[in-house]
Amino acid sequence: MSSHSPWNGSIEVVVGSMFSGKTEELIRRMKRALIARQRVQIFKPKIDNRYSEENIHSHSDQKIQAMVVDSVADILKLVKDTTRVVGIDEGQFFGPEIVDVAQILANRGIRVIVAGLDTDWKGEPFHPMPELMAVAESVTKQHAVCMSCGGVASRTQRTVRSSESVLVGAADSYEARCRQCFDPHFEEQMTFNPRTNDVQTSV
Ligand code: ADP
Ligand code: MG
Repeated sequence: MSSHSPWNGSIEVVVGSMFSGKTEELIRRMKRALIARQRVQIFKPKIDNRYSEENIHSHSDQKIQAMVVDSVADILKLVKDTTRVVGIDEGQFFGPEIVDVAQILANRGIRVIVAGLDTDWKGEPFHPMPELMAVAESVTKQHAVCMSCGGVASRTQRTVRSSESVLVGAADSYEARCRQCFDPHFEEQMTFNPRTNDVQTSV
């Protein structure tokens, strides 16, 4: 995707598993827009504080300045009249209103780029990304390397036991897997011994 969107206002969605390079790709597109001297603003949800508070940070240590927001309503309030490109990382952690907000901004002529997980750790669609993909002008699916077989990974495998459906973490609790190596029932096959803190996986 070039730094100049061919559309007068558009939504671009960048999806894939964890470690597939979504944040890298978002940063790449935002940096190209900056090279083209376009005013950009980047947002991320408060839940994602894995590496730093005011940057978005890729697993490969690339970063770009971002504003941390509580909700997408904040994004609408914070976007300036002069802004040409709005980047949003970790889109899956926003509520369904992100679709309306992206549409409002794009209808105003802004290029909106949203990166996020397309599926959750159970392999199910991670809302609201599917709804956003439906109304987007462009959808890019990124892929990681499967940590089991070295193939093309499309899924995010949770590797630690947790009752929480949203568990913010990185390589300590998730890894990229291909369809064949992905195990959505991982948790159900494990037993946890609270006395020893041991997790055992039954075959
Ligand atoms: P995402 O935002 O999709 O989670 P990032 O853009 O933050 O991904 O990070 C992508 C980088 O992660 C890659 O360039 C690579 O350096 C690193 N990486 C770590 N594990 C993997 C993996 N299994 N497959 C591909 N890249 C990986
Ligand atoms: Mg990311």
